[in-house]
Amino acid sequence: MDYQAFFKQELAALKDEGNYRVFADLERKSGTFPAASYHGATGQKDVTVWCSNDYLGMGQHPKVLAAMHEALEKCGAGAGGTRNISGTNHYHVLLEQELADLHGKEAALLFTSGYVSNWAGLSTLASRLPNCVVLSDALNHASMIEGIRHSRATCKVFKHNDVADLERQLSALDPDVPKLIAFESVYSMDGDIAPIKEICDVADKYGAMTYLDEVHGVGLYGARGGGVAEREGLMDRLTVIEGTLAKAFGVVGGYIAASEALCDFIRSFASGFIFTTALPPAVAAGARASIRHLKESQIERDQQKDRVQKVRHRLRAIGIPTLENPSHIVPVMVGNPIHCKRISDWLMETHGIYVQPINYPTVPKGTERLRITPSPVHSDADIEHLVEALSEIWSQCALSRVSDAA
Ligand code: PLP
Repeated sequence: MDYQAFFKQELAALKDEGNYRVFADLERKSGTFPAASYHGATGQKDVTVWCSNDYLGMGQHPKVLAAMHEALEKCGAGAGGTRNISGTNHYHVLLEQELADLHGKEAALLFTSGYVSNWAGLSTLASRLPNCVVLSDALNHASMIEGIRHSRATCKVFKHNDVADLERQLSALDPDVPKLIAFESVYSMDGDIAPIKEICDVADKYGAMTYLDEVHGVGLYGARGGGVAEREGLMDRLTVIEGTLAKAFGVVGGYIAASEALCDFIRSFASGFIFTTALPPAVAAGARASIRHLKESQIERDQQKDRVQKVRHRLRAIGIPTLENPSHIVPVMVGNPIHCKRISDWLMETHGIYVQPINYPTVPKGTERLRITPSPVHSDADIEHLVEALSEIWSQCALSRVSDAA
């Protein structure tokens, strides 16, 4: 086989569909983020980032940076090993305690990313619990799907956020088999939120465990940033809460929080935990500082809500179609992969605005969009600039506006 020709042919097909991903070469500017330098074909230019998952700007928070600098000086660059073989640093232990406290759980366990925590957590639970059946929301993240698939357990997919369909599927199962319901709190592409209480109710009724991905909730929701489950007073009803340190907390890494026994079980059996080098101590220190700050401070959450409302309001006023949802994510709907990419390119080239196009397979074909994530670090002037630029491109391309807009 001509391997290189095969690779090129597959890539050409992606390009034809408009689904070939091009990464923007950026240098975030600490202290002035969302400002960044963009290294493009025609040189370097200043841009404003509008699609970051550093939702609260904690990636440049002075407390986070100070904690990272201090740990870097004290412990050096890397952890030096897997957790089992010399890699458990005191900063990891402190961070796990912080996370257990954040979610009101007995314990927490760190992973190198949110992806790995889902993959390792779900695959270990579902493969090791004898005859386990996983009930998985239809829009679960790839990391959850891959973890479940890797477990080889039976998986029943229930309709997105549809408790009746979940219950229908649960009721058809043998009451004695172990069951695990896997779902997310905030779905990151549409920004909708799961009916967590209702899912916990049916889980209790049918004796199922619950596994909630709060990746897009932690830091942002709840009085201490424990996520949507904290805001709704439901953390104690979830068997496992999974989260990331890479989005609202602004650093990197993933975790699960659960009972002592469950965390110890995953720690002891999950290959994705055991056989990989631990996070650098400075990363753990920075994440801990971020979590501690957001447990106490409401400023960032309040400012973010204000920015989100303002962006929504301004876009609505000029008829740019956005998907309504109760979260912090503002999807601007384009509905065509080629238009979506062109708009994104034009915003970058003409206005120094960076919003990544979101195309298939991240979202279904025909629902291509620009996913805007307003944050406390976006100024009023940034918002006006974004809104005016979108208005201009909408007119230039004769894209349809929402007719009932002011
Ligand atoms: N879960 C969800 C719902 C996500 O959207 C993501 C990443 O975007 C992850 C898990 C993975 O988290 P991380 O980026 O920390 O690997």
